[in-house]
Amino acid sequence: MKFEEVKNFVNGSFKPGSSDKTHAVISPLDGETLSTFKESTMADLNEIIEHAQKAQKAWQKVTLKERVQVFYRYKQLLEKNNAELTEIIYRENGKIHGEAKAEIDKAIELTEFACSLPQFVNGENMEVSRGVYCSSTRHPLGVVASIVPFNFPSMVPHWTVVNAIALGNAMILKPSEAVPISSQYIARLLKEAGLPDGLFNIVNGTQSTVENICDHPEIKAVTFVGSTKVAKIVYQRASQNLKQVLALGGAKNHIILLPDAHPDMASSNIVASMSGCAGQRCMAAATLLAVGNCDSILDKLIGDALKIQCGTTLGAVISKAAKERIENYITEAEQQGAKILLDGRNTIVPGKENGFYVGPTIIDYATTDMRVAKEEIFGPVLTIVRVKTIDEALAIENANPYGNACSVFTQSGGLANYVTENASAGMCGVNIGVPVPREPF
Ligand code: NAD
Repeated sequence: MKFEEVKNFVNGSFKPGSSDKTHAVISPLDGETLSTFKESTMADLNEIIEHAQKAQKAWQKVTLKERVQVFYRYKQLLEKNNAELTEIIYRENGKIHGEAKAEIDKAIELTEFACSLPQFVNGENMEVSRGVYCSSTRHPLGVVASIVPFNFPSMVPHWTVVNAIALGNAMILKPSEAVPISSQYIARLLKEAGLPDGLFNIVNGTQSTVENICDHPEIKAVTFVGSTKVAKIVYQRASQNLKQVLALGGAKNHIILLPDAHPDMASSNIVASMSGCAGQRCMAAATLLAVGNCDSILDKLIGDALKIQCGTTLGAVISKAAKERIENYITEAEQQGAKILLDGRNTIVPGKENGFYVGPTIIDYATTDMRVAKEEIFGPVLTIVRVKTIDEALAIENANPYGNACSVFTQSGGLANYVTENASAGMCGVNIGVPVPREPF
């Protein structure tokens, strides 16, 4: 399956980037080239911003109540086109159909939230002195930008795009170069929903495009979602240019497994968490801290992981390089003395021999100094570290430099409270593999 050339979306029309550099979009399912795009230059970004500024000035005069009407229509279009969008995400990202559909469902939910903004966005009043009143009201910033990763080509853009535009801003989206096709459809649907030209824009590219966004004086705020390495670069570069910046980075999430956990529930939740989206989720279970003797639960876990079928219930990883990186982590752990209970290296899916697949992998008896126990692998790999006490588990969780998620599996309310109170992660779950709250962002 081939797609049209991926283009920038400028003032309501598609236009290729004007750099000489061309980028191929490869399907992780079978290594086929799905499309190509030309990278963008600073001149391309300037053109987008010029139109976006004009459109935004008119848009901010429209009331919030009227602005969100576009998103009621857009939500219906997402519903109507759900199957087509699901298919695109399946092909460009490699996740299984159910996961791709769940992502569109999430985009719909996020759009519903944007529709409710008139109920939430209030100003404040205070009496600063007798008879002197001060009021604060919310105003759009102007032109803003979102830089997004490959793992959720539709959900992550919807964290910001719909809210920012509903609140009166113009948005420039920089999709991941690995998965830029679904954003083309988002642009079409927003236009069909009646969004005025210039308010939603796409600039395609890689590092230099991101740098141009961070440096451009007319972009007032930047959000970034991606690896910690790049989050730091974007945060520093954009804030140095006095922009508002929200930068979300990588993760290494810990599961604390206690021996009293419900075996079936713990096992199925942990396996789903480590393998969902082929482990390419910032909320995936990555390091399992098994406290005391959890052997019977771990046996179940292996049994559940063995039921996973690559290419059917487990999708591909994003690229050949990602497959190699993940397999290298497993090999290194093996060489350092960890025990590979389930080995997903060298997985080949019949009929998709050129796809980038890694089977579910479970590594036991890892130690905290091993890279598999402390670095983000971003693949379907669960690393088990055996500890004696709950405090030892918490010390390991607290010492890790990431902050996304931690979950405890136990049937004791007291122990669950103890973990959630003492874990360092921002999102703590009890008996749940992916402790995600409801957005908004
Ligand atoms: P990435 O950091 O490689 O890329 C993210 C974006 O940055 C892309 O648009 C890319 O083009 C751009 N980019 C890449 N290298 C750059 C550079 N040197 N300079 C400037 N821009 C650059 O991330 P990814 O591989 O696409 O996504 C996976 C990462 O995203 C994982 O680390 C995952 O944990 C993280 N993530 C975090 C969250 C969260 O909410 N914290 C959500 C989803 C994904």
